[in-house]
Amino acid sequence: MKTLFFSTKNFEKPYLDKSGKDFHDLNFIPEALTEQTAAKAAGYEAVSIFAGDDASSNVLNKLKEAGVGYIAIRAAGYDNTNIAEANKLNIRVANVPAYSPYAIAEHAVALILALNRKLMLAKSQVTDYNFTTGNLVGFDLHRKTVGIIGTGTIGSIFAGIMHGFGCKLIGYDIIENPSLIKKYQLEYHTLETLCRESDIISIHTCLNESTHHMINRETISFMKPSVMIINTSRGGCVNTTDVIDAIENKKIGFFGTDVYEKERGVFFYDYSGKELSDPILKKLLQLPNVLVTPHQAFATHEALTNIADTTFHNLRCWINQQRSENELTRF
Ligand code: NAD
Repeated sequence: MKTLFFSTKNFEKPYLDKSGKDFHDLNFIPEALTEQTAAKAAGYEAVSIFAGDDASSNVLNKLKEAGVGYIAIRAAGYDNTNIAEANKLNIRVANVPAYSPYAIAEHAVALILALNRKLMLAKSQVTDYNFTTGNLVGFDLHRKTVGIIGTGTIGSIFAGIMHGFGCKLIGYDIIENPSLIKKYQLEYHTLETLCRESDIISIHTCLNESTHHMINRETISFMKPSVMIINTSRGGCVNTTDVIDAIENKKIGFFGTDVYEKERGVFFYDYSGKELSDPILKKLLQLPNVLVTPHQAFATHEALTNIADTTFHNLRCWINQQRSENELTRF
């Protein structure tokens, strides 16, 4: 199956080469899929895209015109792909639903510890030979209340890790997971109660209409003063402007995020020495007690291996005219 890989990163190429070594007719390009680049898929049966690519309705129509019948998403989240439109156009779409939930959950924990124990400040102080600890006081995680918004695949792993720290767990999800109640004594509550009672709130929902900007001025108003918010899900779950206001007003104490609502075209690219045109992101990056990482939570050896293996599994299923169990389209 002749396949064009959009948004290919140097660091994932060796994994793709290894998993797809029995494939011919593969082409890897660094450009993201957009309305402008969709025509590059002319002559390909399949394309593979990543989280930052745009597979909205217009782009899908352009892919269809180019002759594409299959899209293999190299990510779990598929909020960038209009599945209803793909169904209409008879374009099959599959994703990699659970390549390593540990990679993402562990990154959320890394953000919590880095912010709480002021690791970036410690690094810059000791680099200047300042070995004092007066600026580095944090808090114990033990016995703190951690609110988990979205207790699906990644949220469940995160729950297990935070249980290990001795935290009390509150969950909010439209579908409750009874095993978390049994194993970790997690209590499900409304979003408002979770916001009111949590010292740390970690977001692990998918991005859809119901979760878009679920962290906003109103939900923030319910939160404890100096709450820590962690987002490794999708940037759109958080209203960034409202979060910035709350950090400036000292309502939010810490904000750690691996994702940003307008990250497309910025994250995964090197802008060093250049000007950033997004004033909201620039503001966020300048605030104290904020740690932004560039959508790197998935970047572990294990996750990259699984992403590549599952992507080629999906493509192999289609070559063999089978439905992949990871298929998101239904026709
Ligand atoms: P999942 O589908 O297993 O879990 C998502 C959970 O959100 C589900 O339990 C679902 O019921 C819940 N949910 C949906 N709508 C909700 C609502 N309105 N209110 C409350 N809960 C709701 O997904 P997952 O694999 O655990 O992924 C979680 C998030 O992490 C996704 O947003 C995904 O895109 C993101 N992700 C980020 C990275 C990264 O590198 N930062 C990597 C992989 C996944």
